[in-house]
Amino acid sequence: MSKPSLAHQGAEAASRARKRRAMPCPHCGEALRVRYSQMQSETCRQGGMECTNACCGWRGTFSTTLDATHVQSAQPRADVRIPLSRAARRRMEQALAQDDARRVRVESNEPRR
Ligand SMILES: [Zn+2]
Repeated sequence: MSKPSLAHQGAEAASRARKRRAMPCPHCGEALRVRYSQMQSETCRQGGMECTNACCGWRGTFSTTLDATHVQSAQPRADVRIPLSRAARRRMEQALAQDDARRVRVESNEPRR
């Protein structure tokens, strides 16, 4: 029996990594594959998925939404609003309580006007 080529081993490893990251089918547990997707807004993408198990055949839709900010962007856009996570809010409150004005400026990173 011959050894699989390095390229073949690499392709198999990439396939396993994709399956680990993929959302499982809600019916059979096999990996779902994205059929199409489209941006709905700066924070939302919607699309269609299908099960990779030909014996299952489930198809459906999904939506992905960016719903919390853990660390503010260093290049914030004024028209993009993603609420702070609880942890980020707590860090800001602690910084304010310590009256550390410089640290508050860096973490909150408010858009300049
Ligand atoms: Zn399935």
